[in-house]
Amino acid sequence: MEKQLFALIFVCLGLYQTRAQEVQIQYMANQGVWIKSQDKQILIDAVFDKEFEFLDVLPKTELELLDDAKPNYNEIDLILATHLHGDHFHPILTGNHLRANPKTEFFGPLETFSVFQQKFEGFQEISNRVHTDSLQLHQTSAYSLNEIKVEAFRLAHFGTHPWNKAENYAYLIHLNGKKILHVGDSNLNIENISKLNLAERKIDVAILPYWQIGSSERMDLIETYIGAKLLLIAHIPLENFADAQQDITQLGYQNAKALTQQFEIIILD
Ligand SMILES: [Zn+2]
Repeated sequence: MEKQLFALIFVCLGLYQTRAQEVQIQYMANQGVWIKSQDKQILIDAVFDKEFEFLDVLPKTELELLDDAKPNYNEIDLILATHLHGDHFHPILTGNHLRANPKTEFFGPLETFSVFQQKFEGFQEISNRVHTDSLQLHQTSAYSLNEIKVEAFRLAHFGTHPWNKAENYAYLIHLNGKKILHVGDSNLNIENISKLNLAERKIDVAILPYWQIGSSERMDLIETYIGAKLLLIAHIPLENFADAQQDITQLGYQNAKALTQQFEIIILD
């Protein structure tokens, strides 16, 4: 009995502790993910509240913990926002988190930064940890944020006016030898995606929006210009949750996983 109990505790710890060199990606909501290594934690597009009825959001209880930077959200090193839309970024939630944890840094496009500055009244208190850049379309740059290497690529947002006017950054995160790409709401058409030209860079994981992957032409472009070992498909409307994995597989993707299970952890080996 004692032995079994010991084994059980070991398994539980195994679930919650990140091993040296291991990288985990946890699905939060919509296109929000939590990337963790043993000593670094990054949230991308995960700090937002309900904006659209048809999209996934974190439960209120989790949002409160995130807002106050309480456990398990008390060791976030970096919050990234790909763009300012309300299903990816919330200025007050993000501001409160940064105020509650003086270690956390933020980075987002200039337009997102401006909204953050206008909407969060305590901005002055946290402004030294809020970073931005003003990349032109298809321009790229690299940064070190809380000792995490991040490359940003400005790519056009999908959809029609005014949605496609948003300044949208894709991020390439370098963590423990892994390369993780999050494209935000990038239009994955040839004009845009060919500028990424990441295939030679051997990306481990690419997090892509569901609406942008749906044809064999798109699949070829993704293979040619991103070429990731694993695709995580996010930003899936709630009504498509049940069928998403099947739909993606039917399109012919060999290495793509639908993110529909809140808090599910994907371990990169
Ligand atoms: Zn958007």
